Amino acid sequence: MFLQRTLKKEIYGIGIGLHSGRKVRIVLKPAPADHGIKFLHVGDDGQTLIDARADNVVATNYATSLGSDGQVIGTVEHLLAAFYGLGVDNALVEVHGDEIPIMDGSAIPFVYLIKTAGIVSQKVSKKFLVLKEEMTVVEDDKTITLEPSRSLSISFTIDFHHPLLKKQRCTFQFSDANFERQISRARTFGFLKEVEMLKSHGLARGGSLENAVVLDDFGVMNEGGLRFANECARHKVLDCLGDLSLLGMPMIAKVTAYKAGHALNHQLVKELLATPEAWEMVAPLHDQPSAKTLEYEFPPLAGVEPQPV
Ligand code: ZN
Repeated sequence: MFLQRTLKKEIYGIGIGLHSGRKVRIVLKPAPADHGIKFLHVGDDGQTLIDARADNVVATNYATSLGSDGQVIGTVEHLLAAFYGLGVDNALVEVHGDEIPIMDGSAIPFVYLIKTAGIVSQKVSKKFLVLKEEMTVVEDDKTITLEPSRSLSISFTIDFHHPLLKKQRCTFQFSDANFERQISRARTFGFLKEVEMLKSHGLARGGSLENAVVLDDFGVMNEGGLRFANECARHKVLDCLGDLSLLGMPMIAKVTAYKAGHALNHQLVKELLATPEAWEMVAPLHDQPSAKTLEYEFPPLAGVEPQPV
């Protein structure tokens, strides 16, 4: 479980872009150890490689967008969360369009895609960012606090002026199985008024009840209702995982978030990367047998059999 992982073979998926409303084709490809997750924007005027790293974040309003050399790929966070949640460290994602398809608004279609391709371990140790010092980021009444911990856990509270979304919480203990069962199926959500406003600005053209939980003033408009009573808080954990993946390595820390969103998640990631004394990078297989690394419970990943290095 400490070895880096990639896809067994390449696989493609097609879906609608949330903002453009256009069909987008993505191809997920295996990549060598220490490659990380990278996007290849394929456009009419050429190809642009964009690392899934915090310094390539170009927008955090409503979704996280990455960009490089004038090319932008929007709504990357649900696919990134699927890679993170399944412990996939290395992959190249070819994107034939300007955004990752929204699919059903959750990460489960990407989980299926990745699991259908298969996951294999590689011959190099994973690297973890192990937090050593507490850290808090604040924006108005929104906060995220990180505390040193033996494992990764995320507790997320949302609090909207809406009868269904008052003080809703999700607490998640990271493992790939927990991610798949508890988090990956939670859909993005929006308020009807906001969706109408976005559409009037030419955004969310692909948005519908097929790919989001939509709330009017009283309740859920989707015919099938919610997948979980606290689906919206669970989706915030999903988004948080996707945004945290831009650290470039999985994190070992206790995360407590209140009303946070992509912008604050990104601020946290930037501050962490700018404060290297607050954490250490640990590669369990290379660093063992040091007592230091044995203090942590590295995340259980059940998807593949561990192989000798
Ligand atoms: Zn989301």
